[in-house]
Amino acid sequence: MEKIELRGCSENELIEICQKIGLKRFRAIQLFQWVQQKAVRSWADIKNISKSDLETLSNHLHFSVLNKVREQRSKDGTRKYLFRLEDGETIECVLMDYARLKARDRHTICVSTQVGCPVGCAFCATGLEGFKRNLSAAEIISQVLDISQDIQQEDPDFQVTNIVFMGMGEPMLNYDQVLKSIRVLNQAQGLNIGMRRMTISTSGVVPKIIQLAKDNSQVGLAVSLHAADDSTRDKLIPMNRRYPLSELMEACREYSRITHRRITFEVALTADNSKPAEAEALARLLKGQLGHVNLIPVNPVVGTGMERPSQEKIVKFAQVLEDAGISVSSREERGTDIDAACGQLRRQWEGKLV
Ligand code: SF4
Repeated sequence: MEKIELRGCSENELIEICQKIGLKRFRAIQLFQWVQQKAVRSWADIKNISKSDLETLSNHLHFSVLNKVREQRSKDGTRKYLFRLEDGETIECVLMDYARLKARDRHTICVSTQVGCPVGCAFCATGLEGFKRNLSAAEIISQVLDISQDIQQEDPDFQVTNIVFMGMGEPMLNYDQVLKSIRVLNQAQGLNIGMRRMTISTSGVVPKIIQLAKDNSQVGLAVSLHAADDSTRDKLIPMNRRYPLSELMEACREYSRITHRRITFEVALTADNSKPAEAEALARLLKGQLGHVNLIPVNPVVGTGMERPSQEKIVKFAQVLEDAGISVSSREERGTDIDAACGQLRRQWEGKLV
């Protein structure tokens, strides 16, 4: 019999399993709290469940954790982790801006959803590696649990408050496991992270945008837009050839119509795509859309040929959007001293960056 991954189980799934193997309901709730709230890393760390019950449980449930291979700490407080999975693959996740956001009681973790990525965006180190496999809900949740565990050793009050599905991989291409992890992370007896504090970032998988609106209208949505015309976006995000801008924007309007929620449009600014004419085209594309534009000057990545735009260009770009009545912010780059762009640490670890 194949064992079920413990860290991916919801409270109800554990109740069902306990009932099937002759254990009381409250055992399942205790177990769920140990795993999700206390982030224990082994059966031996669970204290108020008898050894014989734990043994019975371990015959049906597989308790896997992530192994930290490397950690980088940025001067700005961002911490980047490289974790090894049970099959030897590695993934990255990031605790954003720990020191600054701590003062605001806000701790955001950016998690990966796939090993590698099939999309192949031109500015992304993960895309250069191709796709290996999807992560399970347990592996997605484990990133949150194991980072929490790591930080709690030096800061016992540390609690994750926000999660962005924006690390390695396209979350919408691993939709079921991502949604499952969101439901578990939201549970009151677990980490109890509000639906509105979790955000899925997509390169534009149109059918899944509509499905998300219908399945879970509370989770935040961010769309990696990056260009306002198909020929430029085709080159940056190959997903655009399958779902061009007209279809993507129609899906975004439908998402906002169903959820009444504002979409965050991510625009990576490079030296090449940050001219005022491009800002004007973006303003035309987003006219009437419930949304907010987040400008992200790119981290230079070896192998992509992308260059960061000047500060003057960034400010001008934002001004054009503001003048058109579009809400806009520029995301301060975090962790520029620690290879914080998606996939960079993994590539460096595997010896592909020099
Ligand atoms: S930016 Fe995201 S979707 Fe694009 S290649 Fe990288 S991980 Fe994949």
